[in-house]
Formats: sequence, C-alpha cells, structure tokens
Amino acid sequence: MKIRVLGAFGAEGIGQRPTAFLINDRILLDGGTVGGALTVPEQITIEHALLSHAHLDHVEGLAYLTETLAFSESPVSLTITSMAPVVDALRTSVFNNVVWPDFASIPSVDRPVVKYRTLVEEAEQRVGDLWVTPVAVSHTVPTTGYIIHDGTTGFIFSGDTGPTQAIWKEGRSLRGLRAVMLECAYPDRMAELASIAKHMTPALVQRELDKIPADVPVWIYHVKPQFADEIGEQLSKVGGDRVTIMEQDKTYTL
Ligand SMILES: [Zn+2]
Ligand SMILES: [Zn+2]
Repeated sequence: MKIRVLGAFGAEGIGQRPTAFLINDRILLDGGTVGGALTVPEQITIEHALLSHAHLDHVEGLAYLTETLAFSESPVSLTITSMAPVVDALRTSVFNNVVWPDFASIPSVDRPVVKYRTLVEEAEQRVGDLWVTPVAVSHTVPTTGYIIHDGTTGFIFSGDTGPTQAIWKEGRSLRGLRAVMLECAYPDRMAELASIAKHMTPALVQRELDKIPADVPVWIYHVKPQFADEIGEQLSKVGGDRVTIMEQDKTYTL
C-alpha cells in the first residue's frame, strides 16, 4: 500500500499544506490539499475522498478538485465518503450553491462530478481496493478515524482527536497493522487549548504509546504550521525513533 503525503499540516503556511493523503493513487484520505500537490492527470485518477470530518483543513482541496474533474474531457466522478454527519455537512455547508457549486448535479444529475456515500460506523467496508472501518473519535464536531487495510497490511488513521480510547477497543481486529498515523496539533504549553479544541500535544502522544503495539511506528501529522519547530522539538523527546513527523510529498509504503 502506498501513502503519499499531499499535505501534512493542520492549517496552511508557506510550503505547509493542510491535511491530505493519497492512497494507491485513487483514494484521498482527507482532502485539505489536492491541486497544490498533484498534477491534473493525477487528480483525475482520484475516485474516492474518504473524510475524517468536515473542518476546512480537511476538505478545502475538494472544492478545486471537483472543478478540475468537471473540466475533464472524459466523464469522471468523486465519491465523497464518510459517516453520515460528515457527508451531510459537505452536502449542505460546502457544495450548497452558496459556498461552492452543487457538483452533485453538475454537469447533470445523471452523471454528476460528486457522489456521496455514507459508511456504517464500526463495520469493515470496501472503499476502492481497501477495507475501511470507521471509528468515531473525540473532536469538536463529528469525526471518524479509520482502520484501513488492503488485505495484507494496514494502518490506523486517527482523524482530528483528543486521546484515542475508541480506536483501541478490546477485541478489535488489527491484523497486519504496520503504522499508526496520529494527529498532533499544539505544543505542550497549549495543553488547555488542546483539551478544549480536542487535539493532541506531544505529552498526550507520549501517553498514546502505551496503547499502541510496541513494534508499530507512530507517524505524526496535523502539526499547526506556526508551532512546527516547537512541536518537533518536543516530539523528538517522545518515543525515540518510534515517533516521527510525516514528511510532506513523501510516499510511505506499507
Ligand atoms: Zn484539522
Ligand atoms: Zn478538526
């Protein structure tokens, strides 16, 4: 499985793009960045946008992606996929003909650029060539993490969240688990804000390590750009080589 980092950050800075990953060239995992990281032919290859939640730093790239798809000569469509509250938020608050055109009826209702698909929480479902289990996590709006598997190897994507009890439910199948992608947004001195905004700090990441199998690496994403250096320094003291910050534009292979 290939995981290409389109955007590794929890907001935008110069050269620092909002959260998005491209799995096996065809499945977006969050869509904070698309056109700023991919050529048009690469964008047209995308079939699914698997979303954790509707916050702008995770969906902004979908606006321009849908426009690119609409201009494509061959008919292409993007299926926006998530839990019901997230799909509804995209439909009613983004692609609503106010904030952005309703691409679910462009160029026509019969052959739209955007389709919507609602997933069932806590059930393994097929999305493209992957198996995906959505797990509700703890954030300020409805948010889901994902357990993702290709039949051989898998990884966990935390979504935006505070401490992640839900993912580590007893008896959950984590076969072939090769990595945990874990968010971290704020430095330790901002622990109070992190608790209100339901995000992680390096100290909270440290506590997560006890829940994660010891041989599984932890890849951090969603660092807020203005705190990147401070968070990087604090994370370097957490977990030794096991915890690394994901590099934008790099492709990780599981
Ligand atoms: Zn975010
Ligand atoms: Zn968020």
